[in-house]
Amino acid sequence: MMRVVLIPQFSDNYAYLVIDEASATAAVVDVAEPEPVLAAAAAEDVRIVAILCTHHHFDHIGGNEALIAALADGDLEVFGYAGEAERIPGLTTALEDGQELEIGALRGQAIFIPAHTSGHVAYYFAAGEAVFTGDTLFAGGCGRIFEGDAAQMKASLERLAALPDRTAVYCGHEYTESNLAFAATLEPNNAALTERCAEVKRLRAEGKPTVPTTIALEKATNPFLRSDSAELGASVERQVGGLGGDQLEIFAATRRLKDNF
Ligand SMILES: [Zn+2]
Repeated sequence: MMRVVLIPQFSDNYAYLVIDEASATAAVVDVAEPEPVLAAAAAEDVRIVAILCTHHHFDHIGGNEALIAALADGDLEVFGYAGEAERIPGLTTALEDGQELEIGALRGQAIFIPAHTSGHVAYYFAAGEAVFTGDTLFAGGCGRIFEGDAAQMKASLERLAALPDRTAVYCGHEYTESNLAFAATLEPNNAALTERCAEVKRLRAEGKPTVPTTIALEKATNPFLRSDSAELGASVERQVGGLGGDQLEIFAATRRLKDNF
């Protein structure tokens, strides 16, 4: 069986232990600070056998070298996408789109989802019904487009949205409350969104994380997966104008509005 343990990093980052209970081994997704990761592995009594890097930003790979040194394990694997292999410290295995990887008895798969960075990758565990989406799909939002364009980001998000509805989504940051505040300005009549805003407010007031979310919940409430919503389209058109009902134009305008929200 697979189990996921969330590890807060810095002020709003999340790393995750992906545990294979059968072998008491684990992979860690996106290490910024090694100490909390080592503490979590000790508390769970698991051996870290791999680091899964979603992309090259320092708050996702900045802890690689210190963790590699602390583990001092010649068999440790460090995975990242081939397209940004030189930008990932300690990388041992450069992945291509669709390539499979093994963590003990767990089987994962790389899904290439560029636009936040040019070599961003998600890690999908079909049997474990979980996907680690880094800074591409957030709970209630998506990452900024630093190394790509809106068409690329839209396509990347659509690949993730095509995963089974019940797939748990583990993202790289706790941005949900502000993401949903923005979403609510575009779809004030979306009942699922209104309900989710209240739930997330309650969780944050209690100091609890809002992840994981699910693919189903994202499709129902995330404005970056809802360019086909008539209400969202009309709201964006009112603010920006001239979109002509084109879904890519609506998506791109939504991203620009969020950049300035
Ligand atoms: Zn990033």
